[in-house]
Amino acid sequence: MAASAAVGEAMIEFTILGSGSGGNAAVFRTSAGLLMVDAGLSASQLAARLHAVGVDPGSLSGILLTHEHGDHSRGLDVFTRKYRVPILANAMTREILRDSVDAQGLWRTVPGGSVFAFGGFEIETFRVPHDAVDPMGFLLRADGAAVGVLSDLGHATTLVKAKMQGLDALFIEANYDEQLLAADTKRPWSTKQRISSRHGHLSNKQTADFLEETASQRLKSIVLGHLSRDCNSPAAATDAVMVAVTAAGRNCHVECAGQDEPTAWFKVAGPTEPQPFSHSAGLVVLEQGELFA
Ligand SMILES: [Zn+2]
Ligand SMILES: [Zn+2]
Repeated sequence: MAASAAVGEAMIEFTILGSGSGGNAAVFRTSAGLLMVDAGLSASQLAARLHAVGVDPGSLSGILLTHEHGDHSRGLDVFTRKYRVPILANAMTREILRDSVDAQGLWRTVPGGSVFAFGGFEIETFRVPHDAVDPMGFLLRADGAAVGVLSDLGHATTLVKAKMQGLDALFIEANYDEQLLAADTKRPWSTKQRISSRHGHLSNKQTADFLEETASQRLKSIVLGHLSRDCNSPAAATDAVMVAVTAAGRNCHVECAGQDEPTAWFKVAGPTEPQPFSHSAGLVVLEQGELFA
């Protein structure tokens, strides 16, 4: 199980609490805050896995949502009723979850396509193609390090590719092996079509091709998630991505997150050489209490 050492050096640490169609959640921390991305496990599983990685659920600065699908939001209502943690979502995601999540006073509407500060992080949001109302990817920056979060997207747009520069680590889905999905007998044709569509999920090959094209010298760690139990395996996903990043001349650690237990804490330090700091959008600094729409 993951160590729960306090953050001593300047870096981002993260752990994937669980990933897959059975539920998704991850925790990112710096010396200044703790952010959970998605809450798709049951509230009791979220709490148990947070404790398992050494995090008090009540100490979270906030829960940042990628999109409204149940495997990313299932535990939100019960968890936030118990722990009163702010929920950060864009306006459309908030609107669609409002009836099912009784989080009075906890919603914070975050701007899409912008940069803001929260929970010790500078958070950049951007749109990804997926069959949800307004799904987002994130760049999380703190202490000179940067981590990308790309969970649930059907294809890599020009915008998504542009966000890949300047990352030290990336969490990205590798949902299915194309041959295994084609051969699968449990899923109806319509479901297979949805998964493999441009607004569904990335296959191992799509993720590998994307990384071969975009992985920079700076990128050191890749964590793969949302692996299908039936139509993928950690070995197939890891191999596909390793071959691609090696072909691109990159030297990255590649690992898969699982559905049933948290990963260890990944430690992400920024480059030793100072990097030029640039934004594609203006910095919007928001205090927690000022995030109401
Ligand atoms: Zn989804
Ligand atoms: Zn999902």
